[in-house]
Amino acid sequence: ADESEAVREAILEAADRIEEKRTYLTDLDSAIGDADHGANMARGFGAVAERVEGMDDADPAEIVKTVGTTIISEVGGAAGPLYGGSIMSASTALADGVTAETTVAFAEAYLEKLTDRGGARVGDKTMVDALTPAVHTYKKSIEIDGLPPVEALAKAVDAAERGVAYTVPLRARKGRASYLDWRSVGHQDPGATSTLILAEAILDVAV
Ligand code: ADP
Ligand code: MG
Ligand code: MG
Repeated sequence: ADESEAVREAILEAADRIEEKRTYLTDLDSAIGDADHGANMARGFGAVAERVEGMDDADPAEIVKTVGTTIISEVGGAAGPLYGGSIMSASTALADGVTAETTVAFAEAYLEKLTDRGGARVGDKTMVDALTPAVHTYKKSIEIDGLPPVEALAKAVDAAERGVAYTVPLRARKGRASYLDWRSVGHQDPGATSTLILAEAILDVAV
């Protein structure tokens, strides 16, 4: 169907973007981690693109679930299981298709799973710092402001961008970067950055 095609297009765009930004993400991770975030994400999304390309007859929830399971099986470290597990688990929110309502439910489920699993809160200098304002802005833009999903997503991307900038002055309290303690201050978080890149890719296909 059209919806499935749009979902697959967004995922393939996300995979392209991650590949383009591989070195950038690795450079960020080399400052406060172990310099593998670009490679981890590119390996995961490369495998995702291969799998998803052939899913002609699948519905959106199945496709998105496959994204999650593929990332889980291909990507280790901290970010892999967090991304993969949360995407897999949130995919059921799309069982009735891709609408304003179901995408809000997906976004909320994704954030909830990710914070449950990782235990990070806003201010810990992780992907949660980009994701939380993005999800809250998306929900508010749709449910309170009555914006169409594409406009709500544009606002969510802006919020994610500010969230990424906000990670710079923070001291890391989760993940490898927390081993550096105060020395993590002044560096942008790699996982928050990849979260922004994925949101931008979805927005670019949606408009
Ligand atoms: P690793 O640190 O195992 O090498 P990656 O480099 O792929 O894994 O991912 C690092 C990113 O994972 C960090 O920049 C951060 O955003 C995210 N991260 C790490 N731990 C957590 C956590 N507990 N909750 C949320 N995000 C986390
Ligand atoms: Mg790393
Ligand atoms: Mg690692």
